[in-house]
Amino acid sequence: MSLVRAVGVRKSFGHAEVLRGVDLSVDGGRVVCLLGPSGAGKSTFLRCVNHLETIDAGRIWVDGRPVGFTQRGGKLHELREREVARRRRDIGMVFQRFNLFPHRTAAENVAEGPVHVLRTPKKAALAEARALLDRVGLADKAGSYPHQLSGGQQQRVAIARALAMRPKLMLFDEPTSALDPELVGEVLDVMADLARDGMTMIVVTHEIGFARQVADEVVFLVDGAVVEAGPPGQVLDNPRQQRTQQFLAKVL
Ligand code: ADP
Ligand code: MG
Repeated sequence: MSLVRAVGVRKSFGHAEVLRGVDLSVDGGRVVCLLGPSGAGKSTFLRCVNHLETIDAGRIWVDGRPVGFTQRGGKLHELREREVARRRRDIGMVFQRFNLFPHRTAAENVAEGPVHVLRTPKKAALAEARALLDRVGLADKAGSYPHQLSGGQQQRVAIARALAMRPKLMLFDEPTSALDPELVGEVLDVMADLARDGMTMIVVTHEIGFARQVADEVVFLVDGAVVEAGPPGQVLDNPRQQRTQQFLAKVL
């Protein structure tokens, strides 16, 4: 069953139509890499999935429920803010900028959500945080502050922080774009591990090697529309569409 299903998603900002009927599905445990030129609407699409934007037409379902709505008596009702917040807990999002709390240690950053949102007792949340930091290869950095960590390490803390909420779905928006080239690999490795463990993921990235190795499906978005989608071997190595070929020629 699809964990995410988007059908005919349209979104405009003012007169600019940024998403022009996007269809995209992700089955549970699968990884979709979303590729495309700057301004294609990739971030906007992720934000729509994560309840951060309302859409103008179409529908997005996450875990069988329509984003922004609840179904009662066969009718859709707009969600209240509190219910939106509750549903967003099921979705972890990792951005280009990690935005860790500067005056909290790595473990405290990871424990923040569980303590304040899930009401997990602090001691248990910190123990869990250390386990998650171990999972992203930072067992020895639990007591470090963000400024004592490299960009790659900070981004791995950000991933652990998202995982601490036990999400069903992880959204990554160019998680390695702000990193020095030598730090990209360690973050991609953590993401590949997550994928192997069965996490459902949508990853916006320009890392073609990652997409080739980890993605179950590659979706290529241009000007708010899906131009081409399929297994990485097909879309990346034998693209059918000229727009895809042109894009890949630039990034490869
Ligand atoms: P991508 O992530 O593929 O680079 P975005 O989704 O960030 O693309 O943006 C797609 C288009 O939508 C761009 O032209 C961008 O300027 C515009 N856009 C994004 N967010 C907003 C907003 N909040 N208000 C107005 N325009 C926006
Ligand atoms: Mg973007």
